[in-house]
Amino acid sequence: MWSNIIGQERVKRVLTGALEREMLPSSYLFLGPEGTGKDAAAFELAKAINCLEPRSGGTEACDVCVNCLSIDQLSAPFLHFVYAQAKDVESASGPKDEDLEIVREQLALKANDKYHNIEIPKAHLIGVLQIRELRLALSRSLVSGKRYVVIVSEADMMNQYAQNAFLKTLEEPHANTIIILTSSNPHRLFPTILSRCQEIRFDVLANDEISDALVARDEISREEANFLARLSAGSYSQARTMIGEDIRAMRTEIVAFLRMGLSKSRRNAVKEIDVFVPRSGGGSFLEKRVAVEQRLVLLGLWLRDALALATGSHERIINIDQQQDLDKFVSRFGEPPRIIRAIRAVEQAQGQTKQQLQLRPVMLNLVMELEAALL
Ligand SMILES: [Zn+2]
Repeated sequence: MWSNIIGQERVKRVLTGALEREMLPSSYLFLGPEGTGKDAAAFELAKAINCLEPRSGGTEACDVCVNCLSIDQLSAPFLHFVYAQAKDVESASGPKDEDLEIVREQLALKANDKYHNIEIPKAHLIGVLQIRELRLALSRSLVSGKRYVVIVSEADMMNQYAQNAFLKTLEEPHANTIIILTSSNPHRLFPTILSRCQEIRFDVLANDEISDALVARDEISREEANFLARLSAGSYSQARTMIGEDIRAMRTEIVAFLRMGLSKSRRNAVKEIDVFVPRSGGGSFLEKRVAVEQRLVLLGLWLRDALALATGSHERIINIDQQQDLDKFVSRFGEPPRIIRAIRAVEQAQGQTKQQLQLRPVMLNLVMELEAALL
């Protein structure tokens, strides 16, 4: 049912309108920031198309028929779900058992919650073999379901070979098939792919939409939900990764990181990176990455607040309880172009972290970029 999707009323109207008029394109691109419900909407659309007892004049899934349930469980024979996998999957030796275990676990989480971001170590690629597999599946005749649905999650993870192969898939007519790409970085997709898809843009979520969802779905208090929604930058997933974390302590770390990183002492900077990315211990690579991602988000918000303060837009400050520290920062490093450059450096580090580069060099590079920007 469309109520599974948080906010996005405009998107829902466009999709239900297309269902109502039976005017679905052969391929959609759902684009917009991470954590705004693109994958969730793709699955919801797949259900609405294939539901055996659709509601609202045939535009809404019932969520209880066998087709809806099998799509929700990612097990429908007429659903092909493509997501980034570890490179090992494509190697001759095949994936290791423990990696398969993680994949199974991640798919189970996705089945249970379409807002879950699949996190598989070293998975930063949708490879050409996966696209060949898809083409093979599409070439077979359909056995069940009203329409075959392909969902390519974070489609920009396709490398160029995969994109080339995928382009051929888009060019071949497939009766009764709908392809839905989702992407928060559509500029990484070939223009020839973009031009063949109907684009649906997802909006960042409003704070109250995120706060309501956190209270209803994640069972946290209204006060905490409001606090996390403010820090979420409109992304429900981002808000959720911070549940149960000591955000206030993390912010203190970040202020210290900025102070030490900008103290012109390389030894201090390295010491601060140890706080972000411990040399040993500190959990698995994924856990460390999440920890770094959270701190980068908070660092970005902090710098945006500094920018708001420096440009007199006080009403946009998120860390309202940190005014004193912000004031001190702005009085020293308050030139807006410098702060903007620092924000770009943080965004670059966020991109590199997402691509799963080594975390320590990313952070060291960030310190140097921040120095260059602010000092
Ligand atoms: Zn149904």
